[in-house]
Amino acid sequence: MSKEFYIIVNSLFDDSSFGYGEQISENFNTGKAQFCEGCNLPVSMLEWLPPYEIKVSKKELGDFIFGTYTGFINSMKFKVQYEQSNLTGLSGFKEVDVYHKKKKISESFFYPNIPLINAFVNLELIKFEDENLCDICQKGSSILNHIYSVVFVNPEMIKEDIFFTTALGQAHIFVSEKFKEFIDAARFKNIKLLKASDFEWDSLNPIEY
Ligand SMILES: [Zn+2]
Repeated sequence: MSKEFYIIVNSLFDDSSFGYGEQISENFNTGKAQFCEGCNLPVSMLEWLPPYEIKVSKKELGDFIFGTYTGFINSMKFKVQYEQSNLTGLSGFKEVDVYHKKKKISESFFYPNIPLINAFVNLELIKFEDENLCDICQKGSSILNHIYSVVFVNPEMIKEDIFFTTALGQAHIFVSEKFKEFIDAARFKNIKLLKASDFEWDSLNPIEY
């Protein structure tokens, strides 16, 4: 049986139920991007450096806060339970100061590192503009145009339970079936998962899930 993967499909700025986040300073500190050893192109966004401070659009917050930064910010409840699980992938949970209407929220939130791995996807299901692929990161300088479905070429090689793939970039977070079971069992708030093979995406027409 082939391994199943899921994708997080929360829309970043939907606060109908829970708030989204934005870095407080528009000129927040950044470090370096990661570069591909094959094509020498950047495969990641610039790293966000301290201070970790965000403002949220709403006081009601889930266990996950999505927004202007790469990845997500998570609750203490998620951090504690993740660290007690045997899941792999997340590391370096940095404490984030969260403000609502300039008042600091007393609960603790964290910004974890999500690994960026070279997990190749079936390219017959992806449409690129200016296709110019790479043997290491897969994407090279190609520009994503449409994703019809995400099917990993070597799913058994993927060791992480949560990751980005260089093939599709850091707009898309993937998780293993084990990670999905953990999320479902703990009933974390504000995370929506969809089977990666059912995921469709278009560069011009956003698809809501
Ligand atoms: Zn490359």
